[in-house]
Amino acid sequence: MSQSDTIFDYKHIWHPYSPMINPIPSYSVISAKGVYLKLKNKKNIIDGMSSWWSAIHGYNHPFLNRALKKQIKKMSHVMFGGITHPPAIALCRQLIALTPKKLECIFLSDSGSVAIEVAIKMLIQYWQSLGQKRKQFLTIRNGYHGDTFAAMSVSDPKNSFHKIYNNLLPNNLFADAPVSSFHKKWQKNDLISFKKIIEENSLKIAGVILEPIVQGVGGMNFYHPTYLKKIKTLCNDHHIPLIFDEIATGFGRTGRLFAFEHADVTPDILCLGKSITGGTITLAATLTSRHIANTISMSEVGCFMHGPTYMANPLACAVANANIKILKTNQWKTQVDKIEKQLSQNLLPLINHPYVIDVRILGAIGVVECSHLVNMFLIQKFFVDNGVWIRPFKKLIYIVPPYIINPDQLNKLTNVIIEALDNKSLFILNS
Ligand SMILES: *Cc1c(COP(=O)(O)O)cnc(C)c1O
Repeated sequence: MSQSDTIFDYKHIWHPYSPMINPIPSYSVISAKGVYLKLKNKKNIIDGMSSWWSAIHGYNHPFLNRALKKQIKKMSHVMFGGITHPPAIALCRQLIALTPKKLECIFLSDSGSVAIEVAIKMLIQYWQSLGQKRKQFLTIRNGYHGDTFAAMSVSDPKNSFHKIYNNLLPNNLFADAPVSSFHKKWQKNDLISFKKIIEENSLKIAGVILEPIVQGVGGMNFYHPTYLKKIKTLCNDHHIPLIFDEIATGFGRTGRLFAFEHADVTPDILCLGKSITGGTITLAATLTSRHIANTISMSEVGCFMHGPTYMANPLACAVANANIKILKTNQWKTQVDKIEKQLSQNLLPLINHPYVIDVRILGAIGVVECSHLVNMFLIQKFFVDNGVWIRPFKKLIYIVPPYIINPDQLNKLTNVIIEALDNKSLFILNS
């Protein structure tokens, strides 16, 4: 990329959560293979982010590439209205086989946020079908479910980037986030807030939506499985459907194929995304029960009112199929368990570091919560200069590496985090 390309990007192209005036310059990546991103200066850096939890088997994976090439020769896309095709059928068969028995009807869409919109619309239509005008959703604070409007409306109203839109969003219900963390003792007071809200509003609530076990962008907290179990019981008691957002956690990231397996509970609606295509193309899925699907279909309009243009894109479905085939060889479990062990060895001792408040490890997720905000510009440069790609936010330095990372590569990631913590200039000390 010539310098004029860099300047063009800087001047004309939005990047996620980034201003158009004086943005932090973006690094140009020209190719990627395995755990490495190759920068335009030909330097290879180790990716600690899996392109936001997606590239679980690493980049340029020959098996995923083959699936894409094979499919592209047949067709890249065809509309899904009135038409079906083998990649979508094969994918849905696999998704049904992998997930709890109850989930047997699948809506494919373009992105995680849309999968959430779909889940929310499904439940609004579900209640309409039953002759009830239920519109409110109950969730917990510190959640994150995406950037579209309905998704924003169930994401944390204070903690999120969505504050600005607050008075435009539906007025949903937010219970206190649980404080009992995954590896510590369950504290039953955690349930008080949720229980009170669900009891007082049970006839208004269309659904409960949560990220099971791991709250991602809302703070990278891992909460206690008992909390999820109790929530499920409360939802059952009040006949309120439960949506699990496994867009970040699905497909092995937490050491279980799905995070809800830690609590041994099943949702009525399950949203999948991010790593579903192994980090190659955008695709998401909303799975639901026969009961919900049939109830929606008995509504006045007689169908579910949604249909994206690129619904069930054959290329995306084909590569998602290949991704699941790799998962089914069951290597992921060994890989993730090994990563968890190594992350624990390397990062847990940091709990005694003066700039560290907490260290949390679950599966292939390692989180260092710092006492100060990071200086994004400087810390991003520090990481790249030291050969790694780690993108912290606020006070959180975290890694979600590809499952195929080897021990040396993972040591490199954690060593650079440790070096960063010893470098005061990378933090905003008065924060
Ligand atoms: C990333 C994410 C989303 C949104 O997915 P997009 O594909 O970015 O729209 C929703 N929920 C969770 C938990 C996520 O991590």
